[in-house]
Amino acid sequence: KMVEIKKILHNKIHYYEQLDSTNLKALELAKQGAVEGTVVVAARQTAGRGRLRRKWESPEGKGLWFSMILRPTIAAEYCAQITLLTAVAVVKALQVVTDKKFSIKWPNDIMLDGKKVCGILAEMALAADGSIEYAVVGIGININMSSEDFGAQLEATATSLYLATGIEYEHEQVLKAFLDEFDLLYSHWHCCGFALIRQDWLDYSCTLGHKVTVRDNDTEIYSGVAEDMDDYGSLLVRNAAGKIESFDFGEISIRSC
Ligand code: ADP
Repeated sequence: KMVEIKKILHNKIHYYEQLDSTNLKALELAKQGAVEGTVVVAARQTAGRGRLRRKWESPEGKGLWFSMILRPTIAAEYCAQITLLTAVAVVKALQVVTDKKFSIKWPNDIMLDGKKVCGILAEMALAADGSIEYAVVGIGININMSSEDFGAQLEATATSLYLATGIEYEHEQVLKAFLDEFDLLYSHWHCCGFALIRQDWLDYSCTLGHKVTVRDNDTEIYSGVAEDMDDYGSLLVRNAAGKIESFDFGEISIRSC
């Protein structure tokens, strides 16, 4: 089957000097009817957000802080696939730009040298019939963050393209590489489904096959080996007794990679 690649993302890029959060701005624009493919970029965010209301550090000029508005025609139960396919697009783009190997830590972190270089936060609005009305996907890629920018605490777990390569990449180049990869994958997803994207995700995953500790609010609730990820984005973990538990995309975090 031929995939028709729609260039949905390249022509509607809004740049801001400062926003509280690119996701909040994109959610507002989406609510007002902004078309699919609208991209919101901020030079800095004053209240960048991670999952579970955690803060995302996003100082001026140090990274690519942006969000995109999507209107996918996919059943809401598969909404986790949006984050998964975005993660695959980020890895492919960063590998093209830098020649480094990146991996994906379930569910939403992109890792470089075992540290987080990019975070992804997808938020959805559902229509009355339960379908997805719009989705906003926020992406923060640490480009020129230095050790001082991270601070002593974050430096232990976070890195940037600059710290890993010594090269100061252009934000525009990284954004363009991402938009190209994303357009390709997003078109493929709509025409042909999730199977190939899932395979890419599994290939890039640094979680699968490894021992993980599942935490709920920092309390350890389960541990075992991550065996698989299903079409809903849930992680299947086998414990020492051989029991397999499925962990939902939303509310927990794991330690691995
Ligand atoms: P996780 O899914 O790993 O729990 P989130 O996706 O919720 O994390 O992202 C928020 C967390 O990421 C923060 O609590 C902080 O520890 C870390 N963090 C914040 N800013 C950055 C950044 N610029 N780069 C890497 N990690 C960051």
